[in-house]
Amino acid sequence: MMKVYGLIGYPLTHSFSQRYFSEKFSQENIQGCTYQNFSIPSMDEFPFVLATPGLSGLNVTIPYKEAVIPFLDETDEVVKEIGACNCIRIEDGKKTGYNTDVIGFERSLQSGLQAQHDKALVLGTGGAAKAVKWVLKKKGIPFLSVSRRPEPPETLSYAELTPDLIASHRLIINTTPLGMYPLVEECPPIDFNAVESNHFLFDLIYNPETTRFLQYGMDKGATTQNGFDMLIHQAEESWKIWNNLI
Ligand code: NAP
Repeated sequence: MMKVYGLIGYPLTHSFSQRYFSEKFSQENIQGCTYQNFSIPSMDEFPFVLATPGLSGLNVTIPYKEAVIPFLDETDEVVKEIGACNCIRIEDGKKTGYNTDVIGFERSLQSGLQAQHDKALVLGTGGAAKAVKWVLKKKGIPFLSVSRRPEPPETLSYAELTPDLIASHRLIINTTPLGMYPLVEECPPIDFNAVESNHFLFDLIYNPETTRFLQYGMDKGATTQNGFDMLIHQAEESWKIWNNLI
């Protein structure tokens, strides 16, 4: 039987995953597999998705990374800890939840990380921020969270982010959607005058390739990284999980 993989979310107009996996199947000559978008306006429709013959794995995106968890039979340690799942393996009807954003971020971060990037600022407090913070904790990099709705002392407001704090936190990670297509003029409201060449600015956004946030960092000679490699790593990790390759 055809093995069916897919993505649940809503809306799925700009989904990267379907194109990525369709190209992967064709380029790597992987036979008998298909990747479908399941654009469901409510989780009430999830049981219909699960009834798809041959369904072997799913990715999960906005807004269901948390809502999907009660439907799972098992979850790995990361999903339990951060409360967000973006990958489900389905084997003999058993659904196991994973979070491959975590692996994707960790691998992608590694490429530019240097000894001086020893303290971080995490802009935004949504689902992606949870994956980012998990990785920072695992790597022993202390961080401050920055939010429009600060909860002292763990989370600062953007107004509290002084030039000194920016200068002393040389890894800055944008997990907000500010600057994402089509609103490419937007940018997290931080003082880029305090950014220097020994900073590392990481933006989870991958469209556009260079956001305002990254451009301002580049202007200061900082190391920069967009979200594209993270996306590839998380997709490849999903494939490994679905096929028991890890
Ligand atoms: P989300 O749950 O909607 O959270 C985004 C957070 O950003 C919010 O919790 C909010 O934090 C902040 N925010 C939202 N609108 C804002 C605004 N107008 N001004 C300032 N802050 C704002 O989204 P998410 O799932 O975490 O995803 C966030 C971004 O990461 C998206 O662009 C997504 O495409 C990207 N992403 C990329 C990858 C990848 O593989 N590259 C993976 C996952 C996500 P506060 O309310 O605390 O301010």
